[in-house]
Amino acid sequence: MTVAIGIVGCAGRMGRMVIQEILATEGCVVAGGTEAPGGPIVSDLGSLVGTDPLGVTVGDDPLALFSCSDAVIDFTVPAATRVHAEAAEKTGTAYVVGTTGLTPEDQAVIASAAHKAPVVQAPNFSVGVNLLFALTKQVAEKLGTDYDIEVLEMHHRHKVDAPSGTALGIGQAAAAGRDVSLDDVARFAREGQTGPREIGEIGFATLRGGGVIGDHTVMFSNEAERLELTHKASSRGIFAGGAVRAAAWLQGKDPGLYGMSDVLGLD
Ligand code: NAD
Repeated sequence: MTVAIGIVGCAGRMGRMVIQEILATEGCVVAGGTEAPGGPIVSDLGSLVGTDPLGVTVGDDPLALFSCSDAVIDFTVPAATRVHAEAAEKTGTAYVVGTTGLTPEDQAVIASAAHKAPVVQAPNFSVGVNLLFALTKQVAEKLGTDYDIEVLEMHHRHKVDAPSGTALGIGQAAAAGRDVSLDDVARFAREGQTGPREIGEIGFATLRGGGVIGDHTVMFSNEAERLELTHKASSRGIFAGGAVRAAAWLQGKDPGLYGMSDVLGLD
């Protein structure tokens, strides 16, 4: 069976990687792509990735794209992702969401779509990072609150949200390991007279610069030792590969909100 995959935000950094990944994946074809109205003017998706024309033009109508696709992959911006989730809900088309920086309201629109369409959402589609989530939970479970947990991330200068969705995912995994809610223990910033660190808090630090694709470290420190788990991405291809794998995995699945641990069989 051939899976026809649509790409919203197809001219973006991730959108282009997804086109390349689909072209390199047997059993998958490009169904089409959209960009923001008034966005880059490109006639054919092939020209976005330097290949021969694919005979597929870039549009700006998400509903039309969802209607002609077996799955749609979304790496865009939160406002656009809300519109795309509504299109998934209307059409029932399998939907893969990678956009980060979503508000609880955006998240509610995706949850609603998942009642009508099978959806995979992940803050990070790489196999390595999903293993890091699992390891973080396991270590947090084993080490008590005597160990302070800090999550450090660095990304390229163009990234618009902080901390990264992946850093939040690591924080959620650590909180789950301790059987607490991240909302209750997260410390997102420190400046000035902060006072001593509170027992049990999970701290975040964000660095931005250059072309770094994505580095994440979680540290567990007590007075005597420090355990660090680190992941460094060196190609956006790892995210695109995971997203295309998720799009294929969703075929024939019931509506619902799935994660990469389901796709990778990690649970
Ligand atoms: P980018 O700015 O290069 O690309 C975003 C694209 O979306 C742009 O081309 C933009 O024109 C387009 N867009 C905006 N509004 C649109 C609309 N209404 N309809 C269609 N297209 C629209 O950004 P990027 O680096 O590709 O990242 C995109 C998102 O993906 C970010 O939130 C980023 O954090 C996230 N991301 C997630 C993962 C993951 O594994 N989950 C990996 C990398 C990036």
